[in-house]
Amino acid sequence: MASDVAGGRPGAGQLLAAEMQSQAAARDARRDLQPLARLWPFVRAHIGDAIFAALFLTVSAAATLGLTSMARELMDKIRPDIAPGALNSIFLQAGAVALLLSLSTAGRLFFITRLGERVIADMREAFYKHVTSLDQGFFAEVRTGEVLSRLTTDMTIVETMVGTSISVALRNLLTFLGAFALMMWISPAFTGLVLLIAVIVVAPLVFGGRTVRRLSVYAQERFANAIAYAGETIDGLDTVQAFGREAAANRRFSESVELAFRASVSRIRARALMTLLVMMCLFGGTGVIVWQASLAAFVHHAAGITGGTIIQFIILAGLAGGSVGALGEMWGDIQKAAGAMERISEILDAQPTIAAPPNPRPLPAPARGEVAFEDVDFAYPGRPDLAALSHFSLQVKRGESVALVGPSGAGKSTVFKLLLRFYDPVSGVVRIDGVDLRDADPAEVRARMALVAQDAGLFSGSAMDNLRFGKEGADDDTLRAAARAAEAAAFLEALPDGFDTPLGERAKTLSGGQRQRLAIARALVRDAPILLLDEATSALDAENERLVQLALAGATHGRTTLIIAHRLATVLAADRIVVMDAGRVVDEGRHAELVARDGLYARLAELQFGLQAA
Ligand code: ATP
Repeated sequence: MASDVAGGRPGAGQLLAAEMQSQAAARDARRDLQPLARLWPFVRAHIGDAIFAALFLTVSAAATLGLTSMARELMDKIRPDIAPGALNSIFLQAGAVALLLSLSTAGRLFFITRLGERVIADMREAFYKHVTSLDQGFFAEVRTGEVLSRLTTDMTIVETMVGTSISVALRNLLTFLGAFALMMWISPAFTGLVLLIAVIVVAPLVFGGRTVRRLSVYAQERFANAIAYAGETIDGLDTVQAFGREAAANRRFSESVELAFRASVSRIRARALMTLLVMMCLFGGTGVIVWQASLAAFVHHAAGITGGTIIQFIILAGLAGGSVGALGEMWGDIQKAAGAMERISEILDAQPTIAAPPNPRPLPAPARGEVAFEDVDFAYPGRPDLAALSHFSLQVKRGESVALVGPSGAGKSTVFKLLLRFYDPVSGVVRIDGVDLRDADPAEVRARMALVAQDAGLFSGSAMDNLRFGKEGADDDTLRAAARAAEAAAFLEALPDGFDTPLGERAKTLSGGQRQRLAIARALVRDAPILLLDEATSALDAENERLVQLALAGATHGRTTLIIAHRLATVLAADRIVVMDAGRVVDEGRHAELVARDGLYARLAELQFGLQAA
């Protein structure tokens, strides 16, 4: 039934998005349906809808079969001499069955589709919530894109199954069983003949179907390639135009599209051929049955076979055959959904390695803001052989500001990651206010810190939204005060809608320096005792540089601050500079002392800050 399919399928935009993901069409199916068991808790939560859907399903299958009996009645009883009362009664009965069928179909569609949508909405929420609880180690192994494609493509596959395929499959199963029983009751001999024809029809379907599927995956892959190329070149159109490569790009895109077209034509040809064979077998077979049944009814006057019975039998055979075909198709969908569910479950089952201990030790209140690394060794889970930190020790006193300086790969960012407890050290201890981070609740640890990331780490939404991200429930005055303190108020007020102007994805409508100042303001809103600042490496113009330094001076005042420093002004302002190399502290002191020692720092200062070593 067409309405069935339309009812539970995702919208055109969603379909297109799914299609454009190259793997979507080729998502693996699973032979065993075990992973689908994971759906049960989600379905059980809405068992009422499932029961109603099953009820309507049974009624609609029964009514469909009932209609075939109505057809027989009409055929056999409507004669020129029929009494008007009998005629009215037949049509009344037929009308009642048709009404029942319509109502039960509508009811089934409503409840099953609502169930599907509800289950997927719950699953999406559970999935996202779980993903936000996972630690950095997990994302080192699973790409973000893969997580997203499970949230979109795989969820959509499961949604189609819960909202459509299962209901269609069950309806077809019931229809098939009912139709087959009725056919056997009418004539076991003709039923045998139908089975024989069915085998002949199914053969090209099985062999042809496999070819069509293979070709359609191939065509979709070609299409995905073309779209991927288009996406890349439109994204980098300025480069394409600057190099005058439009014609070459057009040619390459055309080739991809033509390849996709040719792949589609092969698929359509195979499909057309298959349709030809199937229809010939189907009509030939039906002709033979009608012919033989007519002989039995009108020439040999066999008992129980009338014109009405023949019509009913043919409709039943059509229903049974259609149901088997639909079941075959649905089986593929259900296997695909099992594969999708398995991929979703992999994420749902992933356990964060960083979690609060059973009885977390509370951090002392009020917070002091002391940080200590004691002989810490650490290697990333993905690179166990490479020591990102080795015998790393660092004590930062309350209110002190420490600049971390060192060549790329020295381990500066790793210090922040351990402090935020995205990872645990392999050996040694990291403490905040004297408490080993492993004994504390990670949420409480992070609540003591405010991070200004190198890329600012802002989100779409307005400046207000981004500022409030620092502390939920902060009032507007606090947010504006923080923006003023971080030298961000002036440019934010100048935006068309001031602080409420949407800033675009990752706040890309702002300049680098403005983003940094907004990120500093957000950290100020958090009002945490420890400030972690990863300075932007990209060059800022003199004015922006001055404003960022002003913002920093305000932000670091009265707080323990750790800064990954890339600018001279920052290291000059710091109470202490810690020089790192290959995961170790190699030197520390104030700028002048370090330059005078003419070691690694002096060379770095020369390279990074453009200073001549003394
Ligand atoms: P930069 O100034 O370039 O940001 P950095 O001093 O901050 O460098 P880190 O990012 O702390 O250096 O990296 C320290 C070492 O750990 C490097 O050798 C780096 O290749 C490695 N590393 C960093 N992140 C990971 C990760 N997620 N998985 C595996 N290795 C990593």
